[in-house]
Amino acid sequence: MSRPLPDGPAPSPLTDRFGRVHTDLRVSLTDRCNLRCTYCMPAEGLDWLPRPELLTDDEVVRLVDVATRRLGITEVRLTGGEPLLRRGLPGLVARLHALPDPPELSLTTNGIGLARSAAALRDAGLSRVNVSLDTLRPERFTAITRRDRLPDVLAGLRAARTAGLAPVKINTVPVRGVNDDEIGELAAFAVEHGYRARFIESMPLDAQGAWDRDRMVTAEEILGRLGERFDLIPAGRRDNAPAEEWRIAGTDTVVGVIASVTRPFCGGCDRVRLTADGHLRNCLFATEESDLRALLRGGAEDTEIEAAWRNCIAGKGPGHAIDSPEFRRPDRPMSAIGG
Ligand code: SAM
Ligand code: SF4
Repeated sequence: MSRPLPDGPAPSPLTDRFGRVHTDLRVSLTDRCNLRCTYCMPAEGLDWLPRPELLTDDEVVRLVDVATRRLGITEVRLTGGEPLLRRGLPGLVARLHALPDPPELSLTTNGIGLARSAAALRDAGLSRVNVSLDTLRPERFTAITRRDRLPDVLAGLRAARTAGLAPVKINTVPVRGVNDDEIGELAAFAVEHGYRARFIESMPLDAQGAWDRDRMVTAEEILGRLGERFDLIPAGRRDNAPAEEWRIAGTDTVVGVIASVTRPFCGGCDRVRLTADGHLRNCLFATEESDLRALLRGGAEDTEIEAAWRNCIAGKGPGHAIDSPEFRRPDRPMSAIGG
């Protein structure tokens, strides 16, 4: 429930010119990462944002406060880069949870370090977690992420479940010839351990610009692979959620498929993204951003930040058209935008 502003009426929704109401904010806390997933980053040579350019905790809290009190944002997902690399993350989560209109708080992470921090994050007010996991095979994990950290990720998953950060979702990006033969195994792993599984079509958002449509595994193929192993019962799509969901017959396990490329869900998009350096993007694929950090550091009032935010959403296009010849890659990669 949103409260009336001390100086005005309850916030009017953050609506764009197509009538889409935006309630879900993704906040990138860093562009750095301790893995180098091949579909996301090059092995080396990616420059990080200089530290002074990153939003401070105070600045993140201020922007989320404006978003929740004035703009009707109800959900905030913390992401990156790798958000667990952000120092003092439980403290930041606690401050967001203590806002006058606290959003539902979730985290997207590669899971490294989650074994140590899951309980503290839950105590601070985090509700849910998505953990990226593309393979259960150690050598393959090292080939995909260029780091030998599979045991840390599995320990992180277990800790998240024990801490009650439920539902714990596993995010997998299948890549042809790399891990597409493991789709059924990963879903079976989710069934066995009480996680949810989500399979995501790879998108042209890698920092090195090497995305190849032919190596993307389509939603249809993903469903084909799952169907070879399980009976799937359609569970629909939750309001504005990108994943189409199925329940695996005879289990409580839900699997989701995110068909960003072949069946984009732009018509129901309710998301807005804040980069780690304080730029607001109305789409993953936006080619323009609004510099909220400059406003913050220039002493702007909440009303000015609100106006800039509404203006950014007003300029949102109908969709990203990845699969069309007119598609233009955004200047920032996924790791710098916040996935
Ligand atoms: N480091 C965290 C993680 O891996 O979960 C959070 C950031 S990561 C950019 C967020 C999500 O984006 C992950 O689930 C990851 O698999 C996904 N991702 C990264 N690059 C992608 C790409 N090119 N296409 C589709 N999904 C991608
Ligand atoms: Fe890091 Fe996540 Fe990108 Fe993998 S997908 S390199 S874990 S930011």
